[in-house]
Amino acid sequence: MDDDDTTSCRICREFVLQIPGWTGYIHSYWLLRASWDPDHQFFEGPLHFSCLEQWEHREAFQQEMAGILTGRGRTLTFEGTEFTMNQPGLYFSELLHQDADCAIYRNTAEDRWLVLTAQASWETLGPQELSALGHGDPVRLEEGVDRVALPEDPGPDIESATLPELLDLFGSRDRYPGLLESGSPGYRSWGYHPRKRILAYSIDIDLPLPASAADFLRGYAHTYTPLSFDDLD
Ligand SMILES: [Zn+2]
Repeated sequence: MDDDDTTSCRICREFVLQIPGWTGYIHSYWLLRASWDPDHQFFEGPLHFSCLEQWEHREAFQQEMAGILTGRGRTLTFEGTEFTMNQPGLYFSELLHQDADCAIYRNTAEDRWLVLTAQASWETLGPQELSALGHGDPVRLEEGVDRVALPEDPGPDIESATLPELLDLFGSRDRYPGLLESGSPGYRSWGYHPRKRILAYSIDIDLPLPASAADFLRGYAHTYTPLSFDDLD
């Protein structure tokens, strides 16, 4: 794995097809400290949530991640040096709800909400998603066309492959538990460029949320007041 590798799971090393609700991506500028890894200062890149759920360092990861998601930025100092770095915060700072399965936070700078699950996965929602929950509907995410460089040539079937076939081509169907059964995914291939192994695809999908999160947000969707500029610091 080299620094340019943006598609292999940082836990299982297998290819990650990004699918909302089943995968995540840690941006390098988040400066997520790899407190569990003596060889690396920071953790960055893609991961499967199913790998995260079973990972031995899940708790330490989640603690660092929650600090960034719910924080307002902080200065990192490094032992034995004068060196400091500014870690951003994403401002999901107001805790609205917590139970055994999840915690729900409101962003204090914009109308967005964060669901952090006990398994350490995370999702953010906007007013549109909240409104769907308020109507008793699932949160349907319709992603635009994404492009991804595949690690190896999957062969000529890739253009016509369905989503299950695609995941089988990558050998990674088991990294997406529940996706085909409960996510009702719509998948469309927008073409494949063999020379650079670029697949263009789009996915729309029902976001998997803990039942208790959906329950809470269903009621909350009818009661919250949108932020006004007067509220902001
Ligand atoms: Zn993985």
